[in-house]
Amino acid sequence: MHFSILTIFPQFFSALDCSLVGKAQERGIIRVDVHNLRDWTSDVHHSVDDVPYGGGAGMVMRPQVWAAAVDSVRGAGKAVLAVPSPAGKPLRQNDLLRLSRARQIIIACGRYEGIDSRVTQYYAQQRDLEVFEYSLGDYVLNGGEVAAVALVEGVSRLLPKMVGNPDSLTEESHGAEGILEYPIYTRPAVFRGIRVPEVLTSGNHGAVERWRRDEALRKTCRRRPDLIQNLSCARLGARDLEVLAEYGWFAGPGEARLCKTEFGKADFAGPGEARPGSLPAFSQMCASAADLGAQYVYTAVYEGKTVACAFVSAAGECVSPKNGEDGHSPACVLQPVFDPAWDTDRFRVGFTARSVHALRSEAENLAYSCLYLRVEKGNRDLQRYYRSLGFRQVRGIFPAAVSGNEGNHIAGGRGKTDITMVFPLSVE
Ligand code: SAM
Repeated sequence: MHFSILTIFPQFFSALDCSLVGKAQERGIIRVDVHNLRDWTSDVHHSVDDVPYGGGAGMVMRPQVWAAAVDSVRGAGKAVLAVPSPAGKPLRQNDLLRLSRARQIIIACGRYEGIDSRVTQYYAQQRDLEVFEYSLGDYVLNGGEVAAVALVEGVSRLLPKMVGNPDSLTEESHGAEGILEYPIYTRPAVFRGIRVPEVLTSGNHGAVERWRRDEALRKTCRRRPDLIQNLSCARLGARDLEVLAEYGWFAGPGEARLCKTEFGKADFAGPGEARPGSLPAFSQMCASAADLGAQYVYTAVYEGKTVACAFVSAAGECVSPKNGEDGHSPACVLQPVFDPAWDTDRFRVGFTARSVHALRSEAENLAYSCLYLRVEKGNRDLQRYYRSLGFRQVRGIFPAAVSGNEGNHIAGGRGKTDITMVFPLSVE
């Protein structure tokens, strides 16, 4: 990989002699040539700028000086002309990955108001040269040098043999997973009164891995919802969907992408009390829920439209779901209804997980110790998802409130045979 940097401040690039990039130069993995743009001027003052056509503040860099410089440093074969600019494409990790396959990258560091526009226009028409105008972010620096250093460092660390442990590249923010990295810690275990999360010192690798994934998802939800929006639902497991649901992210129609919804709870005293949006089964659902004495309804609203409701009503007593012993703990039943476009396994899992979480957080007020949910018997995938959320199937135990509803099936109105699954709400 050959970097050719054109700048009026060559001294700026001594930064590239240190650290891994410096070592990579010594080891011949990369070559970095820094050129003074003024070497291609022909006037006595070595001037690289001129007044702008059309007037206005500031100076513009002269095209003929730039063209002479680029032509001169360009080697044979394909190359990239990288031009830092606050008006360029925001630089992303996948740009760096693509650029890491280039043979030569020429970086043109602008100053003043920037470079005459005809320079990029001209080189964009040239064969075997890709012009890549890129921005470090939505702010303005004095010159392109910082952006050039960023590009050299970002591209170099993706080259083979550059980073000691290549695994460290795959787990990073903006890696293949498309989410930010989990929080990281080193010794001591307690620093200024702040303890390292206990799971990290447990020696349980599975639990550590899961914790890291949960925290990475949470951090991404908080800081970079734009990245969450781009995640592919197909790669998300039940636990991922549960964590994302904490922030209102659920699998959208067709499970293609995640959608940010408003999740909330309303008291329910009858059909007139809830706002159904366009849910087709809603009136039937309300009637059934009212019959059953539903106390709450949880709703998910997307762009002003209700896409799912879950009614919570008392369901008699349940066998303790924790230890299988007979008990007489009060139970509730969660009965969801979905907009047909949203009625997918992944949406159900996220929405149910969030409803269960909400219920659990007020289990004491509600005094319920377990929750029943009906699941279509043939839908093994959904049952598997629910099992990984902590539900288990109840064999031969169908509380009256659940089984009594058999002929008037309201869980999505599918009218198929269901099984009952149960989830412990209390922690005793
Ligand atoms: N007049 C330009 C504009 O408004 O788009 C800004 C010119 S800036 C003062 C001078 C040079 O700094 C640019 O030509 C570019 O090389 C570099 N630069 C400034 N901000 C940058 C950013 N956010 N990303 C990449 N390069 C930047």
